[in-house]
Amino acid sequence: MNEDKLTKIVSLCCRRGFVFQGSEIYGGLSSVWDYGPLGAQLKKKIKDLWWETYVEKRDDILGLDSSIIMHADVFAASGHLEGFSDALVDCPGCKKRFRVDHMEKSKNGFHICPNCQTEINISVNKPRNFNLMFKTNISATEDNPNYAYLRPETAQGIFVNFANVLNTMHRKLPLGIAQIGKAFRNEVTTGSFIFRMKEFEQMEIEYFVPPEEAEQRYQEWIDERFDFYVNKIGLSKNSLKLRPHDKDELAHYAKGCTDIEFNFPFGWSELEGIANRGDFDLKEHSRISKKDLSYFDSKTNKRYLPYVIEPSAGVDRTFFAVLCDSYHEEEVNGKTRVVLKLKPHMATYRAAVLPLLKNNSEVVNLAKNLFCDIKKRMPVVYNDTGAIGKLYRRQDEIGTPFCLTVDVESLSDKKITVRNRDTMEQDRISIDMAAGFLEKETGLK
Ligand SMILES: [Zn+2]
Repeated sequence: MNEDKLTKIVSLCCRRGFVFQGSEIYGGLSSVWDYGPLGAQLKKKIKDLWWETYVEKRDDILGLDSSIIMHADVFAASGHLEGFSDALVDCPGCKKRFRVDHMEKSKNGFHICPNCQTEINISVNKPRNFNLMFKTNISATEDNPNYAYLRPETAQGIFVNFANVLNTMHRKLPLGIAQIGKAFRNEVTTGSFIFRMKEFEQMEIEYFVPPEEAEQRYQEWIDERFDFYVNKIGLSKNSLKLRPHDKDELAHYAKGCTDIEFNFPFGWSELEGIANRGDFDLKEHSRISKKDLSYFDSKTNKRYLPYVIEPSAGVDRTFFAVLCDSYHEEEVNGKTRVVLKLKPHMATYRAAVLPLLKNNSEVVNLAKNLFCDIKKRMPVVYNDTGAIGKLYRRQDEIGTPFCLTVDVESLSDKKITVRNRDTMEQDRISIDMAAGFLEKETGLK
């Protein structure tokens, strides 16, 4: 794993329609990325798997879709208004702004500008704190502004709706509330691709429990979420590890926090954080909103503020991890073959249908009929825009598990060639069996 691999993955993403730079035709925006046709599909698969696993298949978790723009007081309660800032320093050489904690130091103790290598003496060029939240005016006029904020995490939408969910859904604890959505942080970073963005997407669960159950539930969620990445998403176990936070890393209210880290090209970094947040969030929202957010336990006849366990996952980081984990390069006949060894359920297409001769109308018709037939049962793509070798390589790069090639012989023997992405082995199978073969091989049936 290295920087070189990062460059190759970014290049593949941009070249093959997974990820584009945000506002690219206007010169781009830094730390803002758009998802292209293939990226949008992969991202949706990740979110669908998560939602299905936790909201649809469990009876102790309910879904929520709260708004992005939130009342300023929400962030007074959460602590984001006061404490959510980065110390930034302006480089006197190139006038760009950087995070002090991300800069390397020279031998004589100066901070080095990552852009122009100027040595910065931070006792002269003093760093200043910048809040990471995007502030926005929700009043109709400029001269009488009313400021609100774009949420920096989806979690706050869950806390402010805790009483609404509890009162309308008539559930008992433990109760989870799950949400997928965009969050915004005005991060100053360079070169980390979609790992750190100003606009990103989270999948968060706030799992409310009686205080005495919190530690056990916290441990359960760590196992559950690790298992999700391996068995649902399909990441290799060797690319993942758990990193419990040291005491001095923990927020003052937190009882415990463990990161699930992934071995990204730039090193082990956080994919997800699982935290036992105690009753901090509900307590602070009760205090600032003056609303009672306690829970009445009818079994014990006691009223209390629940503790909350928070598994907080990044959609974009999971997406990035899937790409890193499946990216492979191989030597084939003296040339480099790039292949995305995606698990079949994560691939955009289960197969590509390719006519060997695009000028032979009978071959083309047979291929198109086959394509239309299979498309009713699973996502497939038809492509006749190049020579067969080139078409195979293109499908390898986007992770399509199989290619089905129709040739002149197919017209008489009613068979097609099936090529396996990973082994490159080719087999001849009957056209009628193609859809069934794909369903079996890609785990649909
Ligand atoms: Zn500079």
